[in-house]
Amino acid sequence: MEIKGFVKSTLIDWEGKVASILWVGGCNFSCPYCYAADLVLNPAGLPTVPLEEVTGFLKEKKKWIDGVVICGGEPTIHPDLSQFIQNFKKIPIAVKLDTNGTNPDLLKSLIRNRLIDYIAMDLKAPLDSKYNEVAGVNVNLEKIKETIDILLNGELDYEFRTTVCPAFLVKEDIVKIASSVGEARRYILQQFKPGECMNKQMNKITPYTSQQLEDMKKEAKKFCPNIYLRGDTRGNTR
Ligand code: SF4
Repeated sequence: MEIKGFVKSTLIDWEGKVASILWVGGCNFSCPYCYAADLVLNPAGLPTVPLEEVTGFLKEKKKWIDGVVICGGEPTIHPDLSQFIQNFKKIPIAVKLDTNGTNPDLLKSLIRNRLIDYIAMDLKAPLDSKYNEVAGVNVNLEKIKETIDILLNGELDYEFRTTVCPAFLVKEDIVKIASSVGEARRYILQQFKPGECMNKQMNKITPYTSQQLEDMKKEAKKFCPNIYLRGDTRGNTR
């Protein structure tokens, strides 16, 4: 697998940590609001950052960098993800994985082999037919549920997160999602950001106001106590 983007330091992609973040290409979803169209649709057209450049930087700066975030696209579509991560664990440096949750088997193997330290999993929509609409493809919801169970019942630290795009999600949907992960350690509502969305129609959508998001959070908190808002998703495709 190839690295298609690298930022040496970020304070917003792994909460509470100074992290580096890298992006890998390709995704099995096609979310209309995704703002990484090139990364998802045409990764081969993007320049590749040499792995040695990234590992060399992390080796040199590991005293100051707490970990590396592996983001996509969807990293778990790459069968060599385990070997790829080993390059970072050898440094050694902590690894956070951003995923849409479609590959629970690979996640189980990564967790079993202690290759990841934190997972951020997208919850695109309530676990019903709306999921396909938001993901832009037919989603195997059993796989999504399996990944949710792995995180809820495991020891690895994690967060669930939802981009609250008004084109798809209303308050009742957020309440349903929150109910499905009830006692989660962390469930984050992320602000939707128009501007560079894969589907240009999405750029015309006005995001919910802070007050509307607060109202959703308040209602959903009845079912999921550890729910939080996150406003800035710079550096994140999701
Ligand atoms: S938002 Fe995430 S899951 Fe959706 S298409 Fe983009 S990279 Fe894939």
